Amino acid sequence: LRAKILGSAAGGGFPQWNCACSNCSRLRQGGLRGAARSQAQLALSADNESWWLVNASPDLRAQIEATSALHPRKGVRQSPIEGVVLTSADADHVLGLLLLREFHPLRLFATAAVRRMLLEDNSLFRVLDRFAGQSAWTEVVPSRTFSLEEGISVMPLSLPGAFPDYVPALRRTALTREEAVLALVLQSSCGKRMLYAPGLPRVEPEFLALAQDCELLLVDGTFWSDDELRRVRGSGPTAREIGHVPISGPGGTVEVFAGVRRPRKIYIHVNNTNPVLDKESAEYRQVRDAGWEVAQDGWEFEF
Ligand SMILES: [Zn+2]
Repeated sequence: LRAKILGSAAGGGFPQWNCACSNCSRLRQGGLRGAARSQAQLALSADNESWWLVNASPDLRAQIEATSALHPRKGVRQSPIEGVVLTSADADHVLGLLLLREFHPLRLFATAAVRRMLLEDNSLFRVLDRFAGQSAWTEVVPSRTFSLEEGISVMPLSLPGAFPDYVPALRRTALTREEAVLALVLQSSCGKRMLYAPGLPRVEPEFLALAQDCELLLVDGTFWSDDELRRVRGSGPTAREIGHVPISGPGGTVEVFAGVRRPRKIYIHVNNTNPVLDKESAEYRQVRDAGWEVAQDGWEFEF
């Protein structure tokens, strides 16, 4: 099973168009030791022929063009992209679906709640249904393993997360909360496993036990500290209030995953305000000393 990180930043990317925080400003001026990043996006393939996307980032068009394996190969209108698995209905995970609309048939895997949020509350997503059979939706049920194709099995785990802000209050009450945010355990035909959790609202003990069993973890590295947005912008929610366990501090992922030693541990979905994006920062040193890596666009794994 091959996994490619097409994008490693949180919503907004790095730099973010309307941000002049220390990281974004220094990156633009060439004064930061670190790489620009597009918004979080993963692609999977068992045979190097057909590919599956995990979520669909707002940067998807550029990410596909930057990845030759994802270019059309068998005709004038063709794509090796078979479909998309969604882990939530967050804007930075679904906006890219609108970029895949050019009359191309796709298989879409999502919980019933995520599918309803997209199709029933957001009429724009009907661009995915302009001819019969354009999108084929498969319902994802938490804890029920499914297979994308031979060699890629997926176990969806419900995380204690919330629905996105754009979902109307009335709709929220009608949806099953367990279907709001998922992590995915991806397993290859040789039984090796990778855990993908770009948004981690809380770390439960079962989640840690499962992580210990994987070869590779790609985990929420959105914020360094719980009050990061307040510090940078002067106001705003805490990391935990918007569904992200921070990296540092009591109960942060460095501390909570300290006993998880077997897998390679990588932070993904890194917000542009996060000091770990600067390779010369003390915070970057700390995560490296704790055994973590910070994902960059273009990284690839085989397991
Ligand atoms: Zn910034």
